[in-house]
Amino acid sequence: MRKLLEFHMEDILPAREEVLRQQGMPPGKTVSGHIQSVLEEALDEFTNEARPTGILQGLMVDEFEAIFTGEGQNDPEAPLEEIYQQAEGLALFALTIGGKISTNIEELFAGKNFALGAMLDAVASLAADKAVVRTEEQYEKELANRNHHGTELRVLGYSPGYCGWHISAQRKLFKALEPERIGITLNASYLMTPLKSVSGVLVAGPREIHLFKPSFSFCKVCKTYSCHERLQDLKATAT
Ligand code: SF4
Repeated sequence: MRKLLEFHMEDILPAREEVLRQQGMPPGKTVSGHIQSVLEEALDEFTNEARPTGILQGLMVDEFEAIFTGEGQNDPEAPLEEIYQQAEGLALFALTIGGKISTNIEELFAGKNFALGAMLDAVASLAADKAVVRTEEQYEKELANRNHHGTELRVLGYSPGYCGWHISAQRKLFKALEPERIGITLNASYLMTPLKSVSGVLVAGPREIHLFKPSFSFCKVCKTYSCHERLQDLKATAT
């Protein structure tokens, strides 16, 4: 069953330090009054203009197989293949911060207001990441309420375009989930509009299924290393 997701601003608004770190400022470094005021302006604009929303749909492991396979372009080493096959719950998701923020960022860059454009871009990207975490938490809580056999399940999101799961899988993911209902569309290059949107699959299972060694051939060209923090967190929460 499909359901719409709502996000409260206080649950997704990034902390000032996170935004500055995203902008390349080392933690604890004193920032100028000008940067402080640009940061405040970006946070205000985000709070006033963002319209975060999302959509979620549970599905069976065998139903996900075709979506994962996409157009047959996945890397054979993609860890998600092994992970999803051990899942005890799967749900497709898509979420967005809303179109106005993306338009405002584009307009700021077009008007050469690079400082505010870059700051707002950082705030919006971090907020989208936080919305994914809130969605993971919500699904984890839902499953915990239904789980009667006592296994503790961890939920993590995986997105096409990352870690060997080819971005062309977006096509089948969109066909199954229909995020157009909340205003997210896909272009011929598999990119989403609004730009500050995230889609993927939530995988629920014992924490061990999410553990892997990030030494795949595609890791050599990784731009995010986003798995590192997640893996550390998984290891730290081992009981
Ligand atoms: S290093 Fe990058 S590409 Fe490799 S698993 Fe981690 S996030 Fe994925």
